[in-house]
Amino acid sequence: MSRLAIDYDKCILCGQCVEACPFNALELKDRLEVNENCRLCGICVKTCPVDALAIQRGARATADLDSYQGILVFAEQRGGILASVVKELIGKGRELADKLGQKLYVVLPGKDVDPLIELLKQYPVDTIYAYDHPELSYYRAETYTAVLEDLIQDIKPGILLIGATQVGRSLAPRVATRLRTGLTADCTILDVKPNGDLIQTRPAFGGNVMAQIITPKHRPQLATVRPKVMAPSETALDYPTEVIKRKIKPEMLKSRTEFLSIEPKPQETSITEAEVIVAVGRGLKKAEDMALVEDLAKKLNGMVAVTRPLVEAGWASYTQQVGLSGRTVRPKLFIACGISGAIQHVAGMSSSEVIFAINKDPDAPIFQVAHYGLVGDFYEILPALIEELDALKTGSK
Ligand SMILES: Cc1cc2nc3c(=O)[nH]c(=O)nc-3n(C[C@H](O)[C@H](O)[C@H](O)COP(=O)(O)OP(=O)(O)OC[C@H]3O[C@@H](n4cnc5c(N)ncnc54)[C@H](O)[C@@H]3O)c2cc1C
Repeated sequence: MSRLAIDYDKCILCGQCVEACPFNALELKDRLEVNENCRLCGICVKTCPVDALAIQRGARATADLDSYQGILVFAEQRGGILASVVKELIGKGRELADKLGQKLYVVLPGKDVDPLIELLKQYPVDTIYAYDHPELSYYRAETYTAVLEDLIQDIKPGILLIGATQVGRSLAPRVATRLRTGLTADCTILDVKPNGDLIQTRPAFGGNVMAQIITPKHRPQLATVRPKVMAPSETALDYPTEVIKRKIKPEMLKSRTEFLSIEPKPQETSITEAEVIVAVGRGLKKAEDMALVEDLAKKLNGMVAVTRPLVEAGWASYTQQVGLSGRTVRPKLFIACGISGAIQHVAGMSSSEVIFAINKDPDAPIFQVAHYGLVGDFYEILPALIEELDALKTGSK
């Protein structure tokens, strides 16, 4: 592991490094000491007038990479309900584990977790590690970080997958910092090299490039994955899953946050949960015409989504925006009306089961991702479609 090394023969206890450190990581006692706040930024090394400080990097790096094996998935739950992204992480984790010939583990912190263990046992997981305690009932940064650190130090997984949810986005960087390893946030594609390096792909520079990131010198490799980007795992009812209930040490439950209560917000239906989406883009001429799209969505029991320009124009709310800087959706049917198919939009809808595109321009890029396409004016096509649906409903067709 990388560390700040102090050459006590050279150190003259001048205190310049203590003054310079922005993290209060150096203390002058009988001698100069470095504490856990050190971020290895190197400012002290540059400040020292007698070259008594040096950062020793990567001692662990190549030494024990191979001792880290297996894929660990964080099973996020809220009030006993498993986050839907967990099944997606299990699906991807199983695929990566099989490719490497390694095991798939799940860590489940919570309170009264037996029903969740039974649920997780329906999936192809080798071992479920459960931490069951009232103090773990809801997410708190310190306690959950301590749980993950405890397990990782023990079982040494090569890869840790966490959902890019509100909880995951808080937890993953803390775990990565605690373990002094790398983290790639919001991955959209994951693969592995035969040597165990995780190939983490995510959009960068506003989606104009897909960056591939690896963490070749540290383990475990941490990645967060946006919900709905990866396919959920199939069930595997006969899979021989081992369940291990872990001992909870009192120090793991220490937290500066006092849990008082949870006040649930009224449940909003989100386009991420919709099975049918009718989406519209800049082909829409005026805000009032949204009624046409809403009418079709209603007839199909679906929801309306939009491209970013419509949100910017104030014609729709941000919660309806699909794409890189909006929501990722995975409906059974996605109808794209007057949408060109820009990469930033496609990033949020290309995993839909069936994509049906209507566009006046036969060369519009949306037709490259669409399963079915109609070249034409949606102002003419949607009313005809609605009429057909009405006729089907009344039985006149
Ligand atoms: C950093 C960054 C992040 C971004 N994030 C997002 C994002 O999250 N989501 C998003 O959507 N965009 C995002 N964008 C914007 C994106 O680049 C595109 O500008 C946007 O998706 C284009 O929207 P559009 O397809 O509605 O409009 P246009 O590209 O203008 O396409 C309109 C299409 O409608 C067709 N058309 C016009 N009239 C009709 C008609 N009557 N019938 C049928 N077809 C018709 C045209 O042929 C055309 O293909 C982002 C951009 C950047 C730089």
